[in-house]
Amino acid sequence: MMLCYNVIRTMRKLILIIMLLIPGLGIAEPVRVFVSVLPLKTFVEKIGGNHVTVHTMVQPGYSPHTYDPTPRQIMALAKADLYVSAGVPFEKAWVRRIRAANPRMRMVEAGAGIDMLPAGNHGHHHGEVNGGHQDASGHDPHIWTSPPLAKQIVTNIRDALTALDPGNSPQYASNTDALLLELDALDRDLRAQLKNLGNRKFMVFHPAWGYFADTYGLIQITIEKEGKEPGARALTLLIGQARREHVKVIFVQPQFDRKSATQVARAIGGRVVAIDPLAPDYMNNLRGVARQISEANTQ
Ligand code: ZN
Repeated sequence: MMLCYNVIRTMRKLILIIMLLIPGLGIAEPVRVFVSVLPLKTFVEKIGGNHVTVHTMVQPGYSPHTYDPTPRQIMALAKADLYVSAGVPFEKAWVRRIRAANPRMRMVEAGAGIDMLPAGNHGHHHGEVNGGHQDASGHDPHIWTSPPLAKQIVTNIRDALTALDPGNSPQYASNTDALLLELDALDRDLRAQLKNLGNRKFMVFHPAWGYFADTYGLIQITIEKEGKEPGARALTLLIGQARREHVKVIFVQPQFDRKSATQVARAIGGRVVAIDPLAPDYMNNLRGVARQISEANTQ
């Protein structure tokens, strides 16, 4: 009888020890994260490693300005622990429904603490005076295109993961430190690449590069007007401006139509080049973007 009791007691102890060990062994459930745009997914994965699973709202090829989450995505939100918002226009329209899908989910703004540019900066459509696509805050939402600002985003993500999952905070901290160093190196490379360009203006269909331009002393000229294709008159003015500014390349991004960019390029005898502010391979992509802008402005 006594022996049997001891065996049960030992078993109970063993079970308790095993249960206590499981989180330390990393068998604990990963933090389930939703992000709005792909570059944020890259950041969350680099910081969270195997302690996170990440879903992206805006699917490849779609515009964050007009995206509609699918019913399946809204359902998946119900299981998420954290939502990292970029403050892009679709989120402004959907924030209530995103919140309602999972009231206990923590929501964090990727750009918290960043001094945002007015949406009208360098001709950005959101802030243009007469209506159009101005977002609720009147700010340019494309913060992640500037590596120094990406550092603030990365720090905000680290803090959110640490608050949700303090047990893994040492790993979040060291992954973040490594990522910050990568962003510093990227910033140095871009500065060097873009420093001596004679022509500092570049023409782009959709104004996604305002923060990038601001960081590296460039000027973004936008074709899109108030979120739409320009009319014939605006197009003529843009062609004149492109000639005066010695623009040779019109930049487009894969999520938007390139019709008016092609028209301008044809009129000035230039070409159309795609650069993507939403590419998941953040570091290599921005190095490629800097190379494209630098080539466009040195020929
Ligand atoms: Zn945009």
